[in-house]
Amino acid sequence: MKEYIDELVKLAKIDKAIDDFTPKMAQVEQRLKNAQKERDEIAKMIEQLENDIKECELKKSKNELHLKELSEKLQELEKKSAQVKTEKEVKALQLEEDIAKEQINFANEEIARLENLCETKEEEIASFKERLKEADEKLAELKKEVEQELEELEKEKEELFRQKSELIAKIPQQILIFYEKIRRWAGNTAVVPVRKQACMGCFMKINDKTYASVIKGEEITTCPHCGRILYLEEEEA
Ligand SMILES: [Zn+2]
Repeated sequence: MKEYIDELVKLAKIDKAIDDFTPKMAQVEQRLKNAQKERDEIAKMIEQLENDIKECELKKSKNELHLKELSEKLQELEKKSAQVKTEKEVKALQLEEDIAKEQINFANEEIARLENLCETKEEEIASFKERLKEADEKLAELKKEVEQELEELEKEKEELFRQKSELIAKIPQQILIFYEKIRRWAGNTAVVPVRKQACMGCFMKINDKTYASVIKGEEITTCPHCGRILYLEEEEA
């Protein structure tokens, strides 16, 4: 029976190593996902800026139209002023002219402000496009890297499966079934060492009789508290 305990310890270690591949692979894939996310965020910023520029241009053309209307109005007012007679009429026209001029000033200022704004946004877009190019290059490189890493991990995993099937062939069916049954609830701690006469699965002290049985190693011994399979590590033996 001793040799089966050794085989079970080996099997449990292989099973754990196989399970460890899942988070390892997820981690590698996550790196690619992060780079993709970073790239998409830059692309989104560019889209946002393009929309901002469109809006800015629209506002600018509205102001330009308004400016055109105002200067036409001013011309009309100037024509009228040649025809008015009374002081009251002159004053009223003067007021209208002042208002129109003020509005023209305001529209001109607004156009200048918007032109600046559009320009700034264009500059921002240019720098984001540069960043997007870099992100795309980085992403392509990373894709290759990740594919290679995943391939290597897959190979290592296959090797472990090969070792596992070799090992399984040596262990009697009943023992394997017993092991799998414990593994269902204990996962990768189905087979645990005994240290200082305590089970390393549940960390409770085991009685002398169980301990003696583990030391003898003539049969598969389970922890009386948790039911995991116990074994003695080399140094303890
Ligand atoms: Zn235990």
